[in-house]
Amino acid sequence: SFTIAIIGRPNVGKSTLFNRLVGQKLALVDDQPGVTRDRREGLGRLGDLEFTIIDTAGLDSGPRGSLTARMQEQTETAIAAADALMFVIDARAGLTPNDRAFADFARRANKPALLLANKSEGKQGEAGIAESYALGLGDPIGISAEHGEGMGDLYDALRELMPEPIEDEDEGDADEDNADDPTRPIRVAVLGRPNAGKSTLINHLLGEERLLTSPEAGTTRDSIAVDVEWKGRRLRVFDTAGLRRRSRIDDKLEKLSVSDALRAVRFAEVVVLVMDAQNRFEEQDLRLADLVEREGRALVLAVNKWDLVERAPSAIGKLRETADHLLPQVRGAPVVAISGLMGEGIDRLIGAIEKAYATWNKRIPTSALNRWFEQATRNNPPPAVSGRRLKLNYVTQTKARPPSFVVFCSRADAVPQSYLRYLTNTLREAFDLPGTPVRITLREKA
Ligand code: GDP
Repeated sequence: SFTIAIIGRPNVGKSTLFNRLVGQKLALVDDQPGVTRDRREGLGRLGDLEFTIIDTAGLDSGPRGSLTARMQEQTETAIAAADALMFVIDARAGLTPNDRAFADFARRANKPALLLANKSEGKQGEAGIAESYALGLGDPIGISAEHGEGMGDLYDALRELMPEPIEDEDEGDADEDNADDPTRPIRVAVLGRPNAGKSTLINHLLGEERLLTSPEAGTTRDSIAVDVEWKGRRLRVFDTAGLRRRSRIDDKLEKLSVSDALRAVRFAEVVVLVMDAQNRFEEQDLRLADLVEREGRALVLAVNKWDLVERAPSAIGKLRETADHLLPQVRGAPVVAISGLMGEGIDRLIGAIEKAYATWNKRIPTSALNRWFEQATRNNPPPAVSGRRLKLNYVTQTKARPPSFVVFCSRADAVPQSYLRYLTNTLREAFDLPGTPVRITLREKA
C-alpha cells in the first residue's frame, strides 16, 4: 500500500501524529522478545484515505541537539521505504539547525513531501509557520496532532498526493453472484504471530505432493496464492513467498510487516487467525483480529498446537468465552482447536471457514429485517437528544460481504454509538450472524 514516513527532529510531535493517524489500537509493532525496532509501522487512516505509515520517533533518543549517525541512517532507511514524506516541525519553537538538517534529507529524497507545522493550535504557531517556507518543502500546513486540528487541510493535501484508490477487482459483483457456487474456491488468508504454526498448517493443507510441485517464487517477497482442495472443498490460500520455505530466524520478523498483513487481509474473504495454544490471545493476536474486522472480512480463530496443552472437556467453551470477551467486535467468531502438526481438527477448521463465509455473504429479506427493527426499537427506543425525540424510520440491507445496512432516521448525528452497538448486537442474534463484521450506517431521511 501507499507508504508515508513521518520524519523530523526529536520532540516535534511525530509519535503523536502517528498515533492520531493510526489509532492506538492498530499500531502493529513487532513484539518479538529481544528485538527492538527502530521504527514503528501502522495502518493509517484519514477520512477515506488509507496508507501505511512509518514513524521514526524511536530515534529520538540521540543526544540532545545533535543528529547522530544512527538517526541519520534510520531516517534515510525510512525515507527509502516510503512513497511520500510527512516532514514535521514544531511551529511554536521555530526552526532549529536540526530542522534544516532533516529537511535536507527530505529534499534530497526527491519524494512528494508535506510540510506539517505541528503544535499550531490557536494562533501560537503563526511565526513558525511563516518561517518554515524557507525549508523549501512547499507550503506549510498548520496542524495540531494532539488536538486534532488541521486534519481537514492535511486530508486535502494528502489526497492530492496519493494515487486514486483502485477498486479491488475481486470485489466485484461476479464474486457475489457466485458466492453459493461450491466449486468456486474461497479466498483464505492465514495470519498470526511468528511461530504460531501458519506454515505448518498450510503445508498440512497442501499435502506432500503439492508442496513439491508448488511454484517456487524464489527470493522475492511477492505474494502468491495456492489452491488447496480438502475433501472436495476448494480454498485459494494466500501465501507469501517464503512462508513455505524453511523460515530462517531473520525471516520471521518480516512476516508480520503491516503491509503484508494488510495485503493478505484484503485478498481474503475469510481470514484464519492462527494462535499458539500455549500463549493465545496475546496483544498482537487481538490487533490482527481487529484489523480483520476493520477491513470487513470474515474471521475464524484457530487455536493451534492443541496437542501441547491439557485438554479438559471445558477447554473449548472457555476459549469461546475468552474470544467473546476480548473481541466483542466479532462476537461469536468461530473458535477451532487444531494441531497443524498432527493434522487434528482440520475438518472442523474447514467447516468453520465455510460457515463463516456463508454468514459473511448473507442477505436478509427486507420484510424480516423490518420486523426485527420494529421490535428492537420498541423494546429499547433511542434516547431523546436535548429534549427532542429521535425517530428511526426503517432499515435496509445495502450489501453483503460483509452484511451492511442503512438505518434511515431523523437526525443521524444524534444517534449515540451505544445505541448503534445495541442494534448491531440484536441484529447479529436475530439473524444468526455470529463473528462476521456487521456495518450499520445512519442516513437522514430525505
Ligand atoms: P509460522 O511462523 O507461524 O509459520 O510457524 P511454523 O509453522 O514455522 O511453526 C513454528 C514451530 O511450531 C515449528 O517448530 C512447528 O513444528 C511447531 N508447530 C506448528 N504447529 C504445531 C502444532 O500443531 N503442534 C505442535 N506441537 N507444534 C507445532
